[in-house]
Amino acid sequence: MPIYEYEPLEPCKTCEKCAGRFEIIQGIEEEPLSSCPQCGQQVRKVISWCRAAIVETPDEHIQVNKQISGYEKEGMWSHAAELADTHSEKVGDHDMKMRALDDYKKAGYDAGTLEKHAKSTKD
Ligand SMILES: [Zn+2]
Repeated sequence: MPIYEYEPLEPCKTCEKCAGRFEIIQGIEEEPLSSCPQCGQQVRKVISWCRAAIVETPDEHIQVNKQISGYEKEGMWSHAAELADTHSEKVGDHDMKMRALDDYKKAGYDAGTLEKHAKSTKD
């Protein structure tokens, strides 16, 4: 599913969601939005091109990021690593994969073992 980007026509009347630009995942056959799904203010599509959307919504992505940060803060490295690892596989996020490896190391896993593990599970 592609992601479309919208911006408000009247930036002074926006809600939290549509202040500035926001992105939304829509099916190709869906009508473009003409109003903000949250407050109903008029919006317009910013770009005509689209890029491949990750499987889940950006909101969920942010949630997972927050959760990982929370684990890291409390020193729960293996929890953070596992979550980052699973999530990076799901969305194909290279940075998060690196973060997972980093967290694994902090959790006391051996980096060499991990690389082998990463390769063996990839196929
Ligand atoms: Zn709005």
